[in-house]
Amino acid sequence: MAKNYQAEIVGVFGTPVAENPTGAMQEAAFAAAGLNWRYLTLEVQPSELGRAVDGARAMSFRGFNLTIPHKVAVIPHLDGLSREAELIGAVNTVKMVRGKWIGENTDGRGFLRGLRDDAGVDPAGKRVVMMGAGGAARAIAAELILADVARLTVVNRSVHRGLGLVQDLKTKTGANIEFVEWPDPCLSLPEDTDVLVNATSIGLYPNVEAMPEVDLRSAPAGMIVCDAVFNPAETMLLGNARARGLRTLDGLSMLVYQGVIGFELWTGVKAPEKVMKDALKAELIG
Ligand code: NDP
Repeated sequence: MAKNYQAEIVGVFGTPVAENPTGAMQEAAFAAAGLNWRYLTLEVQPSELGRAVDGARAMSFRGFNLTIPHKVAVIPHLDGLSREAELIGAVNTVKMVRGKWIGENTDGRGFLRGLRDDAGVDPAGKRVVMMGAGGAARAIAAELILADVARLTVVNRSVHRGLGLVQDLKTKTGANIEFVEWPDPCLSLPEDTDVLVNATSIGLYPNVEAMPEVDLRSAPAGMIVCDAVFNPAETMLLGNARARGLRTLDGLSMLVYQGVIGFELWTGVKAPEKVMKDALKAELIG
């Protein structure tokens, strides 16, 4: 039988993209699963996004990820969206399905998988306070609503962005979701809060000394503190929460699981999760 030298191609389009560690995680997974697949980390300018999507079709890519600044801008170039991507209004993973580019969003699902599997918390019926209203926050909020949280409070610095997110998701789902402008000098948590999520970029490298202005003394004892920031994995917020005896979930968990879900969507093969976790940790922590 003739040998097959043709690899299946996926990748990520973004700018700047050079420091994105997803390729190392996916390539390690392909090798471990014995798949002749490649993951290319590709610099794509906004003005070239449409041509990049057409080029991926021409070269029979199996799919691709989108990162900053393409997650919303890619939508007009696709043939369809999953329910989640529609609700979120952004796409981070695209898959070729019977000749059509279908947009998915695995960010929020990745967060939820981490909450359930790594932290052992079922979001159904929980009262959640989420700080932030950008892309990551939108994805997390949509999935929390789909997972039937009892209440979601969105706290954001810019009222316009926070209210926009809340009104949009309320209109689309009818969920119990409210907006609170970030109080001065700091956020005090309702005493029945089950889950606190930082979905802002506060604490992201190189501003590792920064922490969202939240009074952790107001946190009830059983509450879990989750951070979307993955670089560093041990943020100031998580360190302070642990020092107060609170449980925590880091942003690496969300990052690994969004990749695990993407791997399985593209290949149809069960992802080697431990390999992916280890590869990502090696890249980010060393
Ligand atoms: P966006 O730029 O879309 O949103 C940033 C959010 O942070 C906004 O709500 C913004 O508030 C808030 N914010 C930023 N700086 C401040 C500040 N100094 N004070 C108060 N609020 C602030 O970013 P993303 O949503 O894409 O990303 C957010 C974080 O999530 C990043 O750290 C990113 O790395 C991480 N992320 C992690 C993923 C994972 O898999 N773990 C996946 C995707 C993202 P405002 O609206 O007022 O500007």
